[in-house]
Amino acid sequence: MSAPRVVLASNNAKKLAELRRILEPLVPGIQVLGLGDFPAYDEPAETEPTFEGNALIKARACLQVTGLPSLADDSGLCVDALNGMPGVLSARWSGVPRSEGGDAANNRLLLSQLSEVPDERRTARFRCAMALCTPDGREIVEQGEMTGRILAAEHGGGGFGYDPLFAADGYDVSTAELPPAEKDRISHRGKALTAMAPVIVEVLG
Ligand code: IMP
Repeated sequence: MSAPRVVLASNNAKKLAELRRILEPLVPGIQVLGLGDFPAYDEPAETEPTFEGNALIKARACLQVTGLPSLADDSGLCVDALNGMPGVLSARWSGVPRSEGGDAANNRLLLSQLSEVPDERRTARFRCAMALCTPDGREIVEQGEMTGRILAAEHGGGGFGYDPLFAADGYDVSTAELPPAEKDRISHRGKALTAMAPVIVEVLG
């Protein structure tokens, strides 16, 4: 039986490293390729209103270009006091591209939007949908969630995105202060990938 191969459809280096770190021990022998292993292509617009819909858009596009089983995640932060926003708009919430300091601008905007929201109403969750699309036409989506709260200031230099402002339930520190393995264990993406791992074994093994 040959080793299963999947392509992770992401250009976010930190997310790619995080996905590899989680998946490789869960699926022994798996070859995890990244978009850097293939000629660049125009990534499709994330036009769906749901994480699931956008994950499928990205996985389908990657499958079409690479011809290999393709895994894509779509994730974001849902803040209760903002009626679930930024949600699927998390990456581009401030309008500043990631390459021009978008993460920092997003965090500044989030802090200012919640400046008058008291601690007990700063509840939030990260959500993730993970989609697997295979050359024989199968499409599978798994979901994961990490609940917590938005802090009053940024803490920590690890992680990415909104991590410095988010403390998971049961933790006094932000997810940017957690060791990577600890974040993987409790994170929305970790949970979605953990649910996807046996599916990958069954579908590709
Ligand atoms: P995606 O790349 O379209 O899935 O966008 C996800 C966006 O949601 C990221 O750019 C971050 O702003 C935010 N996000 C998702 N997961 C995390 C996380 O684990 N930590 C911090 N921010 C995250």
